[in-house]
Amino acid sequence: MSECVFCSIVKGDIESDKVGESEHCIAFRDISPQAPVHILVVPKKHFRSMNDMPDGSVLGAMGMLGRQVAKELGITEKGYRAVINTGEHGGQTVEHMHLHILGGRALKWPPG
Ligand code: 5GP
Ligand code: ZN
Repeated sequence: MSECVFCSIVKGDIESDKVGESEHCIAFRDISPQAPVHILVVPKKHFRSMNDMPDGSVLGAMGMLGRQVAKELGITEKGYRAVINTGEHGGQTVEHMHLHILGGRALKWPPG
């Protein structure tokens, strides 16, 4: 999986601005932030998308790390959005499962 950008970030072969880590996941700042706080939570193991998760264990760990990082970055009280884009219609551009945590401003709904 050497061509996978998030696997390379997990391995440390590509630099990232890391903000958190747990047993199964890392969290780092998105390179092209869409909000004042824009974090990606990524499983250390490669899964192509939400559709490939075998069960809820890693997914749960991603959610918990996202929540922890949101708290540490001070967006818990005002709120934030957790997003998993999946496949073509979901707007997924990196084929390594990831959770977006977006906050620091009021976000519009619906997303379009
Ligand atoms: P998707 O569109 O697949 O839901 O989200 C992929 C996200 O990964 C995008 O927001 C994009 O800016 C981010 N991204 C792509 N390549 C890199 C990278 O090399 N480093 C970081 N930190 N973020 C990246
Ligand atoms: Zn990968």
